[in-house]
Amino acid sequence: MDLGLKGKKAIVCAASKGLGRACALSLAREGVELVITARTASELEKTAAEISKETGVKVTPVAGDISTEAGRAAALAACPAPDILVNNAGGPPPGDFRDWEREDWIKAIDANMLAPIFLIKAVVDGMCERKFGRIVNITSASVKSPIPVLGMSNGARAGLTGFVAGLARQVARHNVLINNLLPGPFLTDRLRSGAAHEAGKRNVPVDEVIAERAKATPTGRVGDPAEFGDACAFLCSAKIGFIVGHNLLLDGGAFNSSIA
Ligand code: NAP
Repeated sequence: MDLGLKGKKAIVCAASKGLGRACALSLAREGVELVITARTASELEKTAAEISKETGVKVTPVAGDISTEAGRAAALAACPAPDILVNNAGGPPPGDFRDWEREDWIKAIDANMLAPIFLIKAVVDGMCERKFGRIVNITSASVKSPIPVLGMSNGARAGLTGFVAGLARQVARHNVLINNLLPGPFLTDRLRSGAAHEAGKRNVPVDEVIAERAKATPTGRVGDPAEFGDACAFLCSAKIGFIVGHNLLLDGGAFNSSIA
């Protein structure tokens, strides 16, 4: 299927590695011109060059912290009128809520709730005027099924989800469609570091923890970031005109429910 995205412009946040990178690559394969962000300039530039080489599209790396106003301004300066916005940032650390102070919570809310909201605020009215916009927020399966050790992630992402549910219904009439992608376990650095945290606590090898995560999904494996990227490209496509405010869970069936 031709997703109808050739020549569109996208900002993909937090995209030097992992799920963000996979989303950028899948969009580039559809002919979307990209601005990608991450904090570490060297890694980001390498990723931009790789994606551009493989797909032939223009990929502009903009280094910066997307949870800050300066980081967002730099991305928007490089692409002031995107057709597509993929919101993403690193996830908050695991731990016990008794150890978290106000500043810890503010960091999580800045990265996983307010950064996407302020980027949406910057681009959504232009999308409405141009009668095309696709916004995908990368959240987490923890929005549907909280992970106790990731309390800050559960909380901040729930806030974003609530906001987006309302806004998505205000802008849909302009062909501006906002949806969320909820990753379960995908094999990225984030999954490896979470598994390492747990492995350390239980004094077992990291691979054992990853194998347990794989076994816990009906597919018997963890997700491949490329699968996530392709789902993102689909949610950004010109073909999804009637999909509004969804929370699409990509977890290999781990969430046990008659209606996912
Ligand atoms: P990852 O492999 O660790 O990659 C994170 C990417 O985001 C890197 O490119 C990183 O580059 C960039 N980044 C992090 N913080 C940033 C910031 N403040 N500003 C700009 N760029 C930033 O992580 P991932 O697995 O792809 O996870 C992506 C998101 O999905 C996270 O929020 C994570 O919690 C969530 N998630 C992942 C899974 C999973 O299984 N992988 C499951 C549920 C939820 P720099 O460090 O150089 O900035």
